[in-house]
Amino acid sequence: MFIDRAKLLAEASYRCGYCLAHQDYIPWVLEIEHLTPKAKGGSDDENNLWVACHTCNLFKRDQTQAHDHMSGQVVALFNPRRQHWKRHFYWSDDGTLIIGRTACGRATVIALNLNNLIAVTVRRNWIKAGWHPPT
Ligand SMILES: [Zn+2]
Repeated sequence: MFIDRAKLLAEASYRCGYCLAHQDYIPWVLEIEHLTPKAKGGSDDENNLWVACHTCNLFKRDQTQAHDHMSGQVVALFNPRRQHWKRHFYWSDDGTLIIGRTACGRATVIALNLNNLIAVTVRRNWIKAGWHPPT
């Protein structure tokens, strides 16, 4: 099936759907990821695709749900195609950490390791350069 990469990137505003890293600030191409992984029956249909950075895609693997430590529930991971980032996440005051606002957001932060040491270090440098956090 033909995947219109250019269209998906434009729809995602050239940002990772999870950590919001912009294509201009990372040294590798943003990847097209399957929201429901092919290993779990997900298709190549556009509705099942979004844009993710290599790191988020790597940590996501074939996960579709994760444990929220606060509610104790297992919840669906954030779906960047259907859900709004700001509804589920916010930036820490210094802009380096992604904080989950909802059970879905909290579970996704942990499952995708959105505040891994390298990401936080890079964000700190993006802030110095005036590139982050996104508006
Ligand atoms: Zn990312």
